[in-house]
Amino acid sequence: MKKLKIFALALILLAGAAQMSEAALSHEQARRVWNRVAVPTGLTELPFSIQNEEVPNAWVTNGESVTVTTGLLNLLDTEAELYAVFAHEAGHVKLNHHQSGANRAAGLSLASAILGNILGDGLAGVAVNIGANLVNSGWSREQEIAADDYSVELAYSQGEDPVGMYSAIKKLSSVSKTQPSGFNSHPPDDRRMLHIRNKILALDPNAKFPD
Ligand SMILES: [Zn+2]
Repeated sequence: MKKLKIFALALILLAGAAQMSEAALSHEQARRVWNRVAVPTGLTELPFSIQNEEVPNAWVTNGESVTVTTGLLNLLDTEAELYAVFAHEAGHVKLNHHQSGANRAAGLSLASAILGNILGDGLAGVAVNIGANLVNSGWSREQEIAADDYSVELAYSQGEDPVGMYSAIKKLSSVSKTQPSGFNSHPPDDRRMLHIRNKILALDPNAKFPD
């Protein structure tokens, strides 16, 4: 009996250690989470892919496909955060943001938009590999806010945790702050964070935030 207990405990510890060492969302989880966004938004036909790429990023390409990088799966910790990012991308599709920039070749990215905000236009090229996305995305600040709102509303209506949006942006912006350049210590995406926070609180006054 005692042996059995020790064995069970060992299994639990092992499982815990395995989870900790990965500390990331699995590809399997990513597909599942995308599905939880795609079904209620009617986007199950959009091809979904995972790109092996260190830079945390996710984007939609002209409303025709959805891509997430392994870097983002490593950065985020919860399915709620990933759900929020996917729902934000779905928002760009559902709100027809692609029509306003139809000849754009590249997709747009949540992470690059944040990097661009922080680095400023002059330094946007420093935004590593995602610079091309940023330059070509053409999303306006208003469209980003609209996609954020869409994400929070979708999460809330689907019984997901809408705080995931806040938490995901927070993690993305903390990463971009480590980029080597002299940008200021007062990131311009504070305003975006505050907007998201208020949006969540309007839906759920008891929401708990990670700060
Ligand atoms: Zn966006």
